[in-house]
This record gives sequence, C-alpha cells and structure tokens, in this order.
Amino acid sequence: MNTLRIENGLLLTMVPGSAPIPDGVVVAKDGEITYAGAPDGAPDESAEQIIDASGALVLPGLVNAHTHLAMTLFRGYADDMPLRRWLEEKIWPAEMKLTEEDVYWGSLLGVCEMLRAGVTCFNDMYHLPQAATKAAIEGGIRACPSGVLLGFLPNAQELLETAIDFVRELQRQAHPRIHPMIAPHAPYTCPDGLMDKVRAAAHQLDVPIHIHIAETAQEVEDSYNEYGESPVQHLNNLGLFDNHVLAAHCVHVDEQDIQILADKQVGIAHCPGSNMKLASGFAPVPRLAAAGAIVGLGTDGCASNNNLDLREEALLAAIIHKGYTGDPTVLRAETVLAIATRGSAQALGLQDLIGTLEVGKRADIIVVDMTKSHMQPLHNPISQLIYAAHSHDVKATIVEGEMVMRDGQLLRVDEQEVIARACECTKRLLG
Ligand SMILES: [Zn+2]
Repeated sequence: MNTLRIENGLLLTMVPGSAPIPDGVVVAKDGEITYAGAPDGAPDESAEQIIDASGALVLPGLVNAHTHLAMTLFRGYADDMPLRRWLEEKIWPAEMKLTEEDVYWGSLLGVCEMLRAGVTCFNDMYHLPQAATKAAIEGGIRACPSGVLLGFLPNAQELLETAIDFVRELQRQAHPRIHPMIAPHAPYTCPDGLMDKVRAAAHQLDVPIHIHIAETAQEVEDSYNEYGESPVQHLNNLGLFDNHVLAAHCVHVDEQDIQILADKQVGIAHCPGSNMKLASGFAPVPRLAAAGAIVGLGTDGCASNNNLDLREEALLAAIIHKGYTGDPTVLRAETVLAIATRGSAQALGLQDLIGTLEVGKRADIIVVDMTKSHMQPLHNPISQLIYAAHSHDVKATIVEGEMVMRDGQLLRVDEQEVIARACECTKRLLG
C-alpha cells in the first residue's frame, strides 16, 4: 500500500465553510484521502512518504476546466490578431499537419508546466486525443481527454465514431486518472444533426460533453439570425443539457441564458485571460454565480493565453470583474480559489473525486511555500495565494497520492527532453 502523510502546514481543505487549519495533517493510502484535519485526531502512524509542509499552505490541486493542451506548440506563434483570422490563417492550417508525435510532445510540455504550477487535473479538447492521454498517464496528471468534433469537416461522421471508440476504450482501461468526455467544438461548427448524435452518444456512454458556447458576440448574433434564439437556448432546445455539459466561455449570455445554465447545472469554464486576449468580452461571472450556476476556471489553449498557469487565471478573474463592474467586493480571493478548485471539479462532474481535501476523495494536493519575501507578512493566506503568489511558489504537487513534482523537479519525466522534442515538433509544423 502506498501511504503519504503531509504535516505541519496551514491546511485549506476547501470544504465550504471550513477555516484554515494550522499544523494540519493529510493522510492518503493508495491515492485516497483517509484523514484531513487538525493534528489532534490525526492517526498516529507513519507513512512511506512524509512531507513536512512547515511554512507552506496545503490545499487541493488546481483544476484547469478548459484547455487545448498541445497548443503549447503554437505558444507565441500568432498573437494580437482577430479571432477569426487567427483561426483561419494561422491555427487551423498548422493543425492540419499535426501528427500523434506532435500532440504527445506538445501535451507533455503542457503537463510539465501545469504540474509545476500546481494544476493537478485538466480538461482537454484536442485532435488525436490518444496522444494527450498517453502524455497525461506518463506525466502523472489527471485528465479529461476528448477529441474535437467539427461538423464542417468532410469526415465529421467518422470523427464522431472515432470519438465514441476512444471513450469506450478508455472506459475499458479504467485508468484512475483518466476521465474521457465527448467534445463537439461549438454550436456554430456542429450542425443540429451531429449535435443530436453527440447527445445520444454521451447519454449512452454516460460521459459529459465538452463544448465552447457563446464565446463571441458574433456567434450569438449568427445564432439569432439562423435559429431565432441564442446558442444557449438553442442547445437547450436540442436537449443537449440533459447530459452533464462543460461549457467553455459563456461570455455573451443574457438573463434567460443564465437561468437555463443554472437550472440545467451546466458546468461553465470561465477563461478570463483568453477572453481578454482575443477581445471576446467579460463573462458575467458574478451574475452566473448569483443565479446558482456552476462556475469553474480554465486557461484555454496556449495560443490564446499564453500559459497554463491557473493561479494567474484566478488572479485575472478576481480583478477584471471588479474592474468592469466598478464593485471591489465581487469575486473575492476566497471565491476565485473555490472556483479554481471545487468549482472546476464540479463543472467537470468530478466533485465526488476531487476539488476538496476530504476523506474518501482522491489525494490531489499541492503544497505552496509562503515564506518568501513577496508572500510576507502573512495576514490572509488566501489573499496571498491569489494576489501575491507566483506559480513557482508551488513546492510539491501530488496526484492520486503520488508526488509528481517536488522543489521544481518533475519526478516522472525528463523535462529537458520534453522541451527539446516539443521545440523540434514546432519547427517541423511551422517551418
Ligand atoms: Zn477553447
């Protein structure tokens, strides 16, 4: 049995209503948390691996609710362009040349970056998803992989069949860190007939659907012109939300849309960095949260962010909504940390496994150093984490009870090799 014990840190379980626990103890056995709480009451037993978290915060790993991981290969390749031109002239032509090898090394590069930044789970939508899945399994991170269904491609039907086979194969393998989904790209790229097949397949396979919704004002305008209703209303009328759905963006949603998203408990991946960089707008997160919608946090792909640092995304969420609402009390540090952990977990439908440190959940845990000059003095640890920390303050990342990053060193992969191989792939793809 693999046993792990973390002690002496300031423990944030992220269980709603819980206070930070000084000198907290977390114990995990074979990847499952068996104790998380005060030192009095902790089991008096040793473990194979003991982490002394003195001077550090101990909290659930951050959960990246939306990305296109292998787009690390296009980081910085085509910046500061309008979305449509960016996709049509730069990204889609380059993606036509992708091989499994490219996606594997690009994904592994992203895995290295996320584990260093305290991200223990990511939700991926990208081509050749078997390669990203391999990278996630080898790198030691938790993943929700899926391919991308684009209805305008001549082989759309074949892609759907491949996506169904991909889910079936992963369900057969039942890897404890891999949770497949099925991913129609967006309502404007997938016609109703295909969406209906996706809905039926997701229901039959019992997996969530991962999709982009209402990212731009243009998308909403086009939807009204074509269907006489918003993208959210249209997908709701198609019955898509009768499955669990993870909807990235939801930037341009009206009151009726917000009510639908809340009533149907659609998980929303808020991606503030990408939305601002592509000038898409501000998702109405304070109103979504007030309506009872499930809100998580995502980075989106590295071509529109340009990193996978979810703590930075939490900072952006905390400050931009204050900026445009004129209200400095919206999305407090505590709220955005909850969004980046248990909010994202719930948005992915993984709330029974991850998102908080509680007995029975999987041991996805990070340890964040609070002793450096930019983190002192320490009045409020959560404020410090959101407003002052850097991603390299994460000193240990644990997934499924296994330490996969310690003191900046990745323990499962050769990071220098990954960087070199990913750069070779980029060179070949982009010339
Ligand atoms: Zn996206």
